[in-house]
Amino acid sequence: AAAKKSGKNRWCSFSESMRAELYENVLLTAQLHNAIQNQEFILYYQPQVEAVSGKVTGFEALVRWISPELGFVSPGSFIPLAERKGLIHEIGRWVMGEACRFASRLAIAGHKDIRIAVNVSGQQFSRDDFLDSFQRILQETAADPDQIELEITETAMMKSLEGTISKLDFIRNNGAHISLDDFGTGYSSLNYLLKMPFDTLKIDKSFIDMIGLEAKGGLIIEAIMSLAHVLEKSVIAEGVETRDQLQYLQSIQCDTIQGYYYSKPLPEKDAVEFLQHRKDL
Ligand code: C2E
Ligand code: CA
Ligand code: CA
Repeated sequence: AAAKKSGKNRWCSFSESMRAELYENVLLTAQLHNAIQNQEFILYYQPQVEAVSGKVTGFEALVRWISPELGFVSPGSFIPLAERKGLIHEIGRWVMGEACRFASRLAIAGHKDIRIAVNVSGQQFSRDDFLDSFQRILQETAADPDQIELEITETAMMKSLEGTISKLDFIRNNGAHISLDDFGTGYSSLNYLLKMPFDTLKIDKSFIDMIGLEAKGGLIIEAIMSLAHVLEKSVIAEGVETRDQLQYLQSIQCDTIQGYYYSKPLPEKDAVEFLQHRKDL
């Protein structure tokens, strides 16, 4: 009845946009299947820089899909699709393997202290075989777990208190590290936050954007910073783009800076070059 009322044209355009969306989804999903087979993924690495010294402490691994048909597809669009279609597990295992191999190469090149942060989607993390798979990949790639940090979003981490705590404990007992990603965008209670065993809190870009613009922006970040430091977590600020933001974050003892101000995500070769340039700061 609603379609009738709104007239022929509107019904038409509605149906067409739906068909287009369906088509895109089906097509994209098929291509995503192939992408796994054809190895169309590549990891880029965004430097994480110590706020005080300017030295590189690690890199966040960010996946890119270079499709022969579609060109460059941003993870913001294909990761959610991969999650809906159950393809995230395979992609996630590839990402983990590739990141661990990079960590091993870095160690061989003398950079044992550089950490690679790997994004783990909530679906991946909640699967029963996640820990087995992680351990297997560590063994196969001979990566030092001390060089690996798993980034788990606030939302994924806060899902089940008991299950999550024991998984995080297991990961840390194996020598790897945990960061709480996108902090501030979820709904974690202070109670959960106190109980979660993680190493690093990543303040989401949406808060960094408030610096200098919104009167209370800085104060909110300062409050997060104090809370994190009381809990003995280190803090990474994400999406830092300007010198003003950097200086402000330095003035409130933020530990680590990640963002375009220092560098966009880079292909491996450029990431290693970036690392070497900043080594003797
Ligand atoms: P994220 O984990 O929050 O990653 C940070 C995103 O912010 C990256 O986008 C990065 O390129 C971007 N970024 C970093 N600094 C700046 C800055 O200064 N300004 C701006 N405007 N953006 C900045 P990217 O690479 O497009 O990834 C988007 C999201 O896709 C990631 O958000 C993450 O949720 C997901 N993702 C990426 N790679 C993977 C992966 O390997 N596995 C999983 N499960 N998810 C991934
Ligand atoms: Ca992340
Ligand atoms: Ca993030």
